[in-house]
Formats: sequence, structure tokens, C-alpha cells
Amino acid sequence: MAAKMIEEENRAGFHLFKIAGIQITLDYSWLIVFALVVWSLSAGYFPHYYPGQSNRAYWIAGFIAAFLFFLSILIHELSHSLVAIRSGIKIPEIILFIFGGISRLSEEAKDPKTELKIAFIGPLSSFALALIFRGMKMGLEGRQPSLSLVVLDYLIWINVAVGIFNLIPGFPLDGGRVLRALWWWKTGSLTRATHVASNIGKGFALTLMILGGFQIFMGALIGGLWFIFIGMFLRGIAESGYQELIIKQSLEGVQVQEVMIQEVISIPPELPLRHLINEYFLRYGYRGFPVVQEGKVLGIVSIADVKDILEGEDGNRTVEEVMIPISNRILIAPEASLAEALKKMVQEGVSRLLVVREDKMVGMITKTGLLRFLEIRHILET
Ligand SMILES: [Zn+2]
Repeated sequence: MAAKMIEEENRAGFHLFKIAGIQITLDYSWLIVFALVVWSLSAGYFPHYYPGQSNRAYWIAGFIAAFLFFLSILIHELSHSLVAIRSGIKIPEIILFIFGGISRLSEEAKDPKTELKIAFIGPLSSFALALIFRGMKMGLEGRQPSLSLVVLDYLIWINVAVGIFNLIPGFPLDGGRVLRALWWWKTGSLTRATHVASNIGKGFALTLMILGGFQIFMGALIGGLWFIFIGMFLRGIAESGYQELIIKQSLEGVQVQEVMIQEVISIPPELPLRHLINEYFLRYGYRGFPVVQEGKVLGIVSIADVKDILEGEDGNRTVEEVMIPISNRILIAPEASLAEALKKMVQEGVSRLLVVREDKMVGMITKTGLLRFLEIRHILET
């Protein structure tokens, strides 16, 4: 469960550009969807609704329509992000993927009212976009009927469809977030509210899959598969959204000093690397150690840092030459929460942090330790 959360933080894709400090990333799946949208518009939808044009015109129209659709999704996501930023929540990244986008929030909204605002603005902005395209169409109407009117028609209905789809009250769709916020408001419990909203989300996903099955029986193979596919996807995110919250909450209530390793074995900086493996890594079974000289912490050395060096050399270099020198990147306070520790490890790309109080090392906390803590908690609670 937790590993999945960490994995998702490092999602791959094309990093496009930044808007208002937010990294816009295209998931690879988008390329396939984009190609499918262009193709189905150019070869099916436009020739059907406005026959008699050249192939070239259809493909240009298909490309423009798909691009504006893409832009609409981006605006929908940006609206979420901008409201979140105004409420003091940082948004490091927006990922555009197969069914739209995900705004990566650095933290959950602190109260139901904020959550409600952040969620509701999304569908609202899709409907606003539909209205804008409707206005553009009205401006062009009365003149010659043209392909551009058909493109605008498509953009109107696709934005209405995106707005309605997102209003479905299954977490983590916008509608599910609205429902969760209202429930949270009423009961005061975010966990209960998330549980309810994610169950409704899963119920809706199941309904879609059953409908898809019926459609396949009735002979509509592609439409049916599409329903099943969307249903499976929604089910997955409803499930993981709830689990992520549970993990986050169990990490939030616990301080680093309660879970850290207290008897830390340290390494002298002048130790040659060839002794490091046998005398420390193999002997103690840890994958990283602090480097300490006369009670002063100089840095941290982990097996990942020395692995490549040891393969190519005789191991005469010292620990000091390969360690990560001490800096804010690898330090955390004993009073910090486990959630903060995990966030820092992910952001800095490290697996262990030194726990320091007033320049003195009091312990060390590792990603493995965090996962073990979650596992034990999980066993105790079930
Ligand atoms: Zn949305």
C-alpha cells in the first residue's frame, strides 16, 4: 500500500512546462488517447455530421478539436489547483492522463469548506468552457455552415460530458469529493466521510461494469468494453484513494522519535570502503549508517551510494569521499510526524534521515522502518 503511494510520487511522463509554479506532466497513456480521439473525430464523427469535405480538412479539424479538448481538461485541472493554492495548499504537479487529469495536492484540505470549493470548481469550469464554446458558435452561426461549427459542437458537448462525468458522486471524482466534504461537514470525521464516498464510488464503478457486460451481450462490443474499462479504472482509484488517506492518517499522528532507531551504529569517516561491506553492512544488516567523528555527524553513507564504486575499484577510498554530506536534506526533528518524514524522503530521493535535536544526533529513521511500522499497525488493527 505504502509502496504504491511512493511509486506514484515518481510517476513517469513527459514534463511539459510550468504554470504558476505547477509542473504540467503528460502521462504516456495520453498519447494513445489523443491519437484515438483525433482518429475517431477525423474518420468517424466529422465526416458523419458534416459530409462532403476533403480528408485533409477532416484531419485538420480532428487535430484542432482534440487539442482544444486537451486544453479544456488542462483548464479544468488548473481551476482545482488555483483554488487550492489560494487556500494555502501547494500543488507541485498536474498529471494529464487517460481520463483527464490529476492535480497532485501536497496535502489534504484542512476543512470541509475548502475541500468543497476545490472540488466544485472543476465541473463548474467545464460547464463554463462549454458556455464559451457555445458563445463562439453563436457568433459564427448565420454565416455559411462550416466544419468549424461542427468542431465547436463537439467541444460544447465534450465539456458538458466532462463536467457531468466528474459530478458522479464517487470518490475521488470531483462529485465524490463534494459528497465527502458534505459528509465530513456533517459528521466531523474525514475518515468516515472518505469511507462512504469511496464505497459509493466503487458501487458506481461496478454498475458501469455490469452495464458494459450487458452491452457486450447486446452486440455493442466496443461501447461495452469502454464501460468496463472506465468502471475498472474508477474502482481502482476509489480503493487506493481511501487506503492512501488511512496510511497518511496513521503516519500523521505519530512522531519520528517514537519509531526511530535509537542505538545507531556510526562509521568513522576514514574507514576504507573495502571494510565497509563486511564490517558494517553484512554484520549489522542495515543498508545505511551515519558517519560520525568525535561525536559530530558528518554525513550518511548507504549501500546504494557505494555499490557502483566498489564494483569498479579496489576499495581504498574512504567513507568520507562517498558519503552524502550533512545538510538539511537528510535531517529531521524528533517531533516531526512520520508523514513529514516520508514526504521528505520522497522529495529528496533518500531512504533514511538522521534525527537531530540541537545539532546532536538522537537517532535515524528509514523508509523500511516506516513500512514496518505501517505493517505492524495494520496487523494490530485487523
Ligand atoms: Zn476535476
